[in-house]
Amino acid sequence: MRTLVVELAQFIGGTWITPQGPFVADINPARTDDLVARAPLGTTNDVDLAVEGAHSVSAQWARTSLRERGVILARASDLLSQRAQVLGAELTREEGKTLSEGVAEVKRAADIFRYFSAEATREIGSVFASSRDGESVLVVHRPIGVVAVITPWNFPIAIPAWKIAPALVYGNAVVWKPASLVPLLAFRLSEILVEAGLPPGILSLVLGSGSIGEYLAGHRGVSGVSFTGSTDVGRHLARVCADRGTPIQTEMGGKNFCVIFSDAHLESSVKEVVMGAMLSTGQKCTATSRLIVEQEIAEDVMALLAEEVAALRVGNGLDPDVTVGPVASGSARASVLQHLNRAISQGASIIAGGEPYSSGPLAEGYFVPPTVLDLPGRGLDVWREEVFGPVLSVVRSRDRDEAFEMANDSCFGLSGSIFTNDFGWIDRAIRQLEVGMLHVNSETTGADPHVPFGGIKQSGSGPKEQGRAAIHFFTEEMTVYLRPQATRPR
Ligand code: NAP
Ligand code: MG
Repeated sequence: MRTLVVELAQFIGGTWITPQGPFVADINPARTDDLVARAPLGTTNDVDLAVEGAHSVSAQWARTSLRERGVILARASDLLSQRAQVLGAELTREEGKTLSEGVAEVKRAADIFRYFSAEATREIGSVFASSRDGESVLVVHRPIGVVAVITPWNFPIAIPAWKIAPALVYGNAVVWKPASLVPLLAFRLSEILVEAGLPPGILSLVLGSGSIGEYLAGHRGVSGVSFTGSTDVGRHLARVCADRGTPIQTEMGGKNFCVIFSDAHLESSVKEVVMGAMLSTGQKCTATSRLIVEQEIAEDVMALLAEEVAALRVGNGLDPDVTVGPVASGSARASVLQHLNRAISQGASIIAGGEPYSSGPLAEGYFVPPTVLDLPGRGLDVWREEVFGPVLSVVRSRDRDEAFEMANDSCFGLSGSIFTNDFGWIDRAIRQLEVGMLHVNSETTGADPHVPFGGIKQSGSGPKEQGRAAIHFFTEEMTVYLRPQATRPR
């Protein structure tokens, strides 16, 4: 596995473009001497060609029946399922999450393509009564045209799938700029869509840096931008799009919380919290980062957290016994360690982990110890800023009202969990907590393909993703006043 270096190519206007260089090295974050792939660096000219290519075929694609487009997605779903083991291993080698997580992510991408492949069998518009006799009012959905898709590295295939599948099935053409850290899985998904029969030009893959993404988002040939990534980049792109009047959907950062009430089953609650905080090395956008516990149970919860985190096995994700892989890059590791140092200098105490690896294979790869911090209060930066690594911060609340107030005291609003059997408080949580996704007695992560996904506040803007919600971004609604006319007398 180690010696295999994949030479990647861009896919533009229906043609694989043989790379000329310069190249970007795609390395394994678990062992940095392992070169996974070599990726070409796209140019603005490549973006122009991709957008022009998409325009030349998009009208034809829009006329293709929904059923026929769905059949191509169903074939892609089959291919993803068949190759889940191989692609999952490549994903692990490229991004670092464990093999079981890598394989599960590829299967999830297959499920997403399967879900959207069935759009032809679902309701795709609505009919209203008219206030005028003999007339009805139809609401129909039409493709928006050429869509720019810009994706992050933390879910190299599932997040692209949940944008590209609905974009295609509703009749749009796509130009995709994936994250620079994960070009291999982007290349693999593009290969699969070609193999599944997607007509040339309907999907282009442009590899390159963030500036290429910015050029694409601001391109006058693009009619919509679907972005997932950091809040800074998302807000910047929203400004770029505002200048052109281009609609944009953003899914951005989070600072997701769990609240454990004193009546909760502590062992099972802590297990869920640790899974939410540490699996995928804490690099899910919905990963738990803040834990709020009622003060009367705080000492018990801390002890359970220490025990649960000590049982995690950190290492190369390809080792089947490993439960936590590396973070995705050297800069990600430096950033997480900097957050930890600052937290400690601001008064946090370490409940688990905390000490960077200084020797052996864990020091050579981009590993960070899963860490739990006990905070003296809410004033620390680590309580407010997204860390994006295996770090959980804990604060104590005086009572339940203060716990909810603490949970909502964040500029982010992606995901949250509450652990209790108290129905009255669960009901209040549904009405009061400021998140796009709320879990009751389960961890903060998870995204079923058939239900809306997305955040509020600075975690996201525009229509939600996945499920029936996806149609709202990837189509334009047209209201049709439909009145039959009397036949002209002859
Ligand atoms: P990022 O740095 O914002 O990058 C996301 C994508 O945007 C990448 O393809 C990146 O390209 C590109 N990009 C960077 N600068 C750009 C610019 N100026 N204009 C246009 N595109 C640009 O985020 P990331 O580090 O890949 O991912 C981690 C972040 O994503 C975290 O904040 C996480 O919370 C968030 N996230 C959110 C969700 C959600 O659903 N809410 C899901 C997953 C991740 P390069 O890779 O080439 O820089
Ligand atoms: Mg980045």
